[in-house]
Amino acid sequence: MMKSLKIRLELNDVQTTLARKHAGVARHAYNWGLSACKQAFEKQEKRPSSIDLHKKLVTEVKSKNEWYYEVSKCAPQQALRNLDEAYKRFFKVKGSKLPVFKKKGRKDSFYLEGNIEAKGGFIKLPKFGKIKLSEKMDYQGIKNVMISRQAYHWFVSFKIPFVPEKTEKTKGKVGVDLGIKTLATLSEGTVYEAIKPYKKYKRKLRIAQRQVSKKFQKGKKEQSKNYAKAKIKVAKLHYKISCIRKNALHQVTSDLAKNHSQIVIEDLNVSGMSKNHKLASAILDGGFYEFRRQLDYKCAWYGSELVVADRFFASSKTCSNCGKKKAKLSLKERVFCCEKCHFEADRDLNASINLKKFGAS
Ligand SMILES: [Zn+2]
Repeated sequence: MMKSLKIRLELNDVQTTLARKHAGVARHAYNWGLSACKQAFEKQEKRPSSIDLHKKLVTEVKSKNEWYYEVSKCAPQQALRNLDEAYKRFFKVKGSKLPVFKKKGRKDSFYLEGNIEAKGGFIKLPKFGKIKLSEKMDYQGIKNVMISRQAYHWFVSFKIPFVPEKTEKTKGKVGVDLGIKTLATLSEGTVYEAIKPYKKYKRKLRIAQRQVSKKFQKGKKEQSKNYAKAKIKVAKLHYKISCIRKNALHQVTSDLAKNHSQIVIEDLNVSGMSKNHKLASAILDGGFYEFRRQLDYKCAWYGSELVVADRFFASSKTCSNCGKKKAKLSLKERVFCCEKCHFEADRDLNASINLKKFGAS
């Protein structure tokens, strides 16, 4: 099994410029290749392969654009391969779109290959030399990496061989109720508190966003440097929020997948809930999509089974003790009280026990 890693880079000014140049060449090659393909279609010729395009690029484009020589040849080469993949996807996969021209500053990325090594807090990359990583690690024999930009940060992504530990599952089957008041309640009683990074950073974000609109000059083509700075601040806050959320979710999903033989969750139909705006935004803030995604692959890693109860399964309304279903249960009712057997339990705990039972049936 392979596992992808994505680590933030701490580039110095020289390296940032070089990264921009690489992304620029990759974009230029992609766009050039795209127009070459379009021309071929117009002439009703066969679409040139990525190898044909690369040969043509070396003889016709590279010689006229000196800046191509400043970057690794892998950057334009892989860009043309990506273009080829995009076309193949378009012809094969229903619903996929035709490749379009890449715009500067949007999804900037490029590719490097060689004998790459990450050691201590640094990664050694062809053309770049040593680059500082945001965390320490030790990996040798990395064949290729992708460098990409997101919210004014640069990242390196690569794959490493990964043997998941098939741990002894000490905790057996578990039902997990995902909530708003709490992130997750397990049928054995464990409660994971809600992560609300958005709520925490809401004020900061609002102030930063106000600065952006304040510094925007109407009717001006070129905006000021301060406007750009304000925009960077907003993007960085958004990024921070997404990181906090992801990390908290990783903790929970790892705990679950490592220790339980079967995990039962509910299928949360977020689009169906979006009618209730408040509820929907809380759910998105809780990162339930991400929760499900992480649990999916971690269960495969650690050899546990993920069961998803369909969204019509009334986990909240059913008594986990006698099975009697309530006709109504409002969101305000935090404690479940059964009219039939007088069983009382925390609403989320009751739901999680029902989910555990669903998995067993
Ligand atoms: Zn009951």
